[in-house]
Amino acid sequence: MLSTMQDGHLSIGTLLRHGSTVHAESEIVTWTGSGSRRETFADLGKHAAKLANALRGLGITGDQRVGTFMWNNAEHMAAYAAIPAMGAVLHTLNIRLFPEQLVFVANHAEDQVILVDGTLVPLLAKQLPEMKTVRHVIVANGDPATLQAPDGVEVHSYDELLSRQADTFDWPDVDERSAAAMCYTSGTTGDPKGVAYSHRSIWLHSMQVCMTDSMRLAESDKALAIVPMFHAMSWGLPYAALMIGASLVMPDRFLQPEPIAQVLATEKPTFAAAVPTIWQGLLQYLDANPQDISHLREVVVGGSAAPPSLMHAFEERYGVPILHAWGMTETSPLGSVARPPKAATGEEAWRYRYTQGRFPANVSARLIGDSGEEMPWDNEAVGELEVQGPWIAASYYGGSQVDPEKFHDGWLRTGDVGKISPDGFLTLTDRSKDVIKSGGEWISSVDLENAVMGHPAVAEAAVIGVPDEKWDERPLVAVVVREGQQVTAVELREFLADKVAKWQLPEHWTFIEEVPKTSVGKFDKKRLRAMNSDGSLDVTHF
Ligand code: ADP
Repeated sequence: MLSTMQDGHLSIGTLLRHGSTVHAESEIVTWTGSGSRRETFADLGKHAAKLANALRGLGITGDQRVGTFMWNNAEHMAAYAAIPAMGAVLHTLNIRLFPEQLVFVANHAEDQVILVDGTLVPLLAKQLPEMKTVRHVIVANGDPATLQAPDGVEVHSYDELLSRQADTFDWPDVDERSAAAMCYTSGTTGDPKGVAYSHRSIWLHSMQVCMTDSMRLAESDKALAIVPMFHAMSWGLPYAALMIGASLVMPDRFLQPEPIAQVLATEKPTFAAAVPTIWQGLLQYLDANPQDISHLREVVVGGSAAPPSLMHAFEERYGVPILHAWGMTETSPLGSVARPPKAATGEEAWRYRYTQGRFPANVSARLIGDSGEEMPWDNEAVGELEVQGPWIAASYYGGSQVDPEKFHDGWLRTGDVGKISPDGFLTLTDRSKDVIKSGGEWISSVDLENAVMGHPAVAEAAVIGVPDEKWDERPLVAVVVREGQQVTAVELREFLADKVAKWQLPEHWTFIEEVPKTSVGKFDKKRLRAMNSDGSLDVTHF
């Protein structure tokens, strides 16, 4: 029997209409370096309509791709709304990709138009001649004359182009299964892979972002989206904000600890999202320049493991709870969130919060062992995490459905290794390529990093496996010492002695100025391994 219910499409157009009418007074606040510029959601509706009219005028039809090469700001938000709502596909280009990867993704997605921020023109200009399908470039927040257009490419001023457009648009009814937006994984190995989110997957994911036991985004929130809009859709904040009416605070290009602290002081957001390295940097800054940040009801940390020391510092010194979450570009990205079960209190609650968290109803998970068998959820058996659900990628764009490295039996292979407790909490021990295999046993680089970062003199620590004749691999710890502090490898080894098993105690140590980071701010262990093998690290051996 079929239901008797209506069957409307879950579309970005609906989110835009809802946000710009029901939540007309909510705001998008963009930091300018010295203050804020503001746009209401009602104005965003008009802004998006003008952009859609402009793109139609430039010949964008059907599901053509429009790239953005932008910081988090009001113009990028208008692109997030307008491009999918008009039926085209938003492609958020990662401004920190290596040049050849940037060219690869623009060509692979066949971007027709690129919206670029004025400050990023020099970065795009070098690669533009190699982007074969681009016909128009629109320069926002800057002077289009700074861009020398290659043959066949027209350059436009965003403001001028939009000033000529009507502020209404006849938004089409878009099939919820069609692509709305795409994002390429940062491609630590091989070419980047494109994930094409559907209107439906974004809609369902946005509801999850707003759920009470998830990120809890609410109308009363003012959310500071530090995680870039080119990194896994800013973890779903822009669309969830339209859905629920939360105001957004966008830091634009001001991502260093000092300007972030200024944004906090000026705008007093209630919520924020960023990778651990941003919070580590902010913590050091705040420790030297104290400021009240208790207006933050909670901040979400993911993208790599949140060190427990960081979680304790924010909560105990600043009264701000850190919510640990796990996800990836292929999972939209929300996969799991670490809110302790209702019965857990005190130390036990903290132990739950250190994990990567519980899966929501829409994400199924399983652990697969070395020989392909499914592992029990007993918080001991370790395996590769596989996930399934309506906002999880089933394949890569333009790639084969059959990609046994990443997809099999309708499951996404995450490449993450860990264990799951009987009550469904995931603890990741590593990425499969970062696991340290020592004498037939596995050493978790994440556990060691968290333990070393628990030392008060340590700002950051990254652990990699280095070749060892006897044990295959042994851990090497690269330590960044906090400004004005001192610590030796001998002291750190002593500090670890009662925290990790004796056979896991690292015997290779190096002190560095900064851990190399990937394009999305994670520890770049590939580069650290290269630095070790080419001899550029000064290593102490025990
Ligand atoms: P990339 O694969 O280029 O790093 P993603 O941003 O999609 O791009 O990264 C997803 C990966 O980040 C996950 O597969 C996982 O390894 C790691 N990750 C994300 N969140 C966490 C977390 N809370 N703890 C540990 N690792 C995490």
